Amino acid sequence: MTQIAQQLAEVYTRIAQAEQRFGRPKGSVSLVAASKTCPVSAIRAAVACGQRAFGENYLQEALPKIKELETEGLEWHFIGPIQSNKTRDIATHFDWVHSVARLKIAQRLSQQRPPELAPLNVCLQVNISGESSKSGTTAQELAELATAVVEMPRLSLRGLMTLPALNSDLEAQRRPFRTLHQLWEGLRQKGLTLDSLSMGMTDDLEAAIAEGATLVRVGTAIFGSRPRKDR
Ligand SMILES: *Cc1c(COP(=O)(O)O)cnc(C)c1O
Repeated sequence: MTQIAQQLAEVYTRIAQAEQRFGRPKGSVSLVAASKTCPVSAIRAAVACGQRAFGENYLQEALPKIKELETEGLEWHFIGPIQSNKTRDIATHFDWVHSVARLKIAQRLSQQRPPELAPLNVCLQVNISGESSKSGTTAQELAELATAVVEMPRLSLRGLMTLPALNSDLEAQRRPFRTLHQLWEGLRQKGLTLDSLSMGMTDDLEAAIAEGATLVRVGTAIFGSRPRKDR
C-alpha cells in the first residue's frame, strides 16, 4: 500500500468512527480530498483507492490537473477564494463551488456556466468567527444572498460552507459548526432545499461531523503537509 493509500484509509476510518460516535447515519458524510499543491501522481494514488471528489483552491494550478485527469471522470470542487476574472473557468471546469460569498460572483458563475453542463453545485461560504482575514458572507447577509442564488438558473444551491479559526479543543471546534448548522436550518425553514454542509478539515473533522457536516474537506491527513501554509 502506498503512503497516500494508507493515509486515505485512515481518513475514511476517522469519518466512519465519527459517524458512529455522534449518531450520524453510516455513509452520511462524504470526503472531498483537498489536493491543492499536490501533484497529479498523488491524486492518482487516491483515485486508485476509489476517491472521486477533489478540492482545489488555485485555478491556475487546478486547470492542468483537471485536464490531465479528464478521462477519470472525477468530481472537482473549487474551495478557494474567487476573483471575478476567474469565474468563467471555474464555471466551465468544476462541478461544485464551496466558496461563493458575493452576489456578483454568483451571478457571473450562473451566466458563465456552459449550457450543456448540469447546473453548478454551490455552497455559500459563511464567515462565522467574523475574522476580517477570512472570506465569507456574514450571518446577517446570508439570507439575502441565499434567496438570490436559489433563483439563479444555472446554479444549484446545495448548502453552506465555513472555514473557522483553528482550535485544538473539541468543544471550541464544535461551536462555529453548530452555528453554521443553525443558519442552514433557518434557511431550510424558509423553504430552501439545502442538503449539504461543507465543514471540517484535517484537524477538526470529528467536531464537524458531530455538528452535522455532510462534506468534509481534508488535505493534510491524506497527502501530508503542504510546502506552505494555505489557509
Ligand atoms: C486546504 C483546505 C482544506 C484542507 O485543509 P487540511 O487542514 O489540509 O485538511 C479544506 N478547506 C479549504 C477551504 C482549504 O483551503
